[in-house]
Amino acid sequence: MSYFFLDEYEHMESYVPGEMPKDREYLKLNANESSYPPSPKVLEAMNSTEVKSMAHYSDPHCMELRKAIGEEYGFPAEQVFVGNGADEVLGFCMMSFFKPGMKVCFPDITYDFYRTYATTYRLNFVQFPLKKDLSIDVEDYVHTDRDVILANPNNPTGKAIPVSDIERIVAQDPKRMVIIDEAYVDYGNESCVDLVRKYSNLVVIQTFSKSRNMPGARIGFAISSADIISDMNKIKFAFNPFNMSTLAIVGGAAAIQDKDYFHRCINEVERVREMFEDALEDMGFGVIRTTTNFAFFHCPDVPAKVLCRELKKSGILVRHYSDQRINEYLRITIGTEEEMKQVLLKLGEIREKQYDRAC
Ligand SMILES: *Cc1c(COP(=O)(O)O)cnc(C)c1O
Repeated sequence: MSYFFLDEYEHMESYVPGEMPKDREYLKLNANESSYPPSPKVLEAMNSTEVKSMAHYSDPHCMELRKAIGEEYGFPAEQVFVGNGADEVLGFCMMSFFKPGMKVCFPDITYDFYRTYATTYRLNFVQFPLKKDLSIDVEDYVHTDRDVILANPNNPTGKAIPVSDIERIVAQDPKRMVIIDEAYVDYGNESCVDLVRKYSNLVVIQTFSKSRNMPGARIGFAISSADIISDMNKIKFAFNPFNMSTLAIVGGAAAIQDKDYFHRCINEVERVREMFEDALEDMGFGVIRTTTNFAFFHCPDVPAKVLCRELKKSGILVRHYSDQRINEYLRITIGTEEEMKQVLLKLGEIREKQYDRAC
């Protein structure tokens, strides 16, 4: 720590991204990225603007992208905020609406970044424990005076709560902000975005990193009341007016417009996920069925830590958590059918090897 670093950041926790080792080639299934490229229309749009765009600033209002997203979900651009990934959108929410000591809550097991934000912004935060079956106890969030941050479906459990439950949380108190992170909503879940028409204390956040196969482009967005979006833009213009590159703006708009490609990729991920989950169950693994682009499972006879290490040795990266409640589980991103068959094969081999050793 340098002489200049602020005292208040001494105990800040920084987010630890999924590992990206470079010592060999890995099948990277630890960060819920995509095994498919973005829509060809995205590359086309980026190529056609690339050369002239570099010599000029991007549109600080990101109008083309906000309009495209708005049209897709039935909102005017004034109700859409775009940022450098959902993470930055959440960051702008924090900067705009939260200050040290303010009370928020989120689950004990969820996307790690919420804790990071809560410590960075020195919030008074509570992490409500998930129920025994690892689902969210909705009552905790209905009957609290705290602002709420929830990932729906949750990460890494993959469990979703219905929109009617979100509505109960939102409707309880219009003076409480509710932020719903729908990073995985497109994989067969109902979005709560339509509740924005009825409630002015709801912020719905989505990302292009999962279902639109573009984590490297860094595009996320929020849909909320025109007032909330205008507040966030005010902060953005006071902090980083050109937060989105021209490539992200035109590429993102093209991705939204190519609905056919979007649906084909989603259907494929869902099909492969079901095949993979079925196969795991047939092999005797315990599977928590998800509606996301990842699977969450535990092995009856090999510790998750060992499985994770052995998979890495054979060139496959998956996510293992140290949190005691889920340290017997692994989270694995759904890749192509071929990739997942390779994983199943490896899992079988590792278990056999462990069994031999035990005998
Ligand atoms: C992946 C993920 C994000 C990150 O989105 P970016 O747009 O890549 O910043 C946000 N929230 C959850 C729950 C995620 O799993």
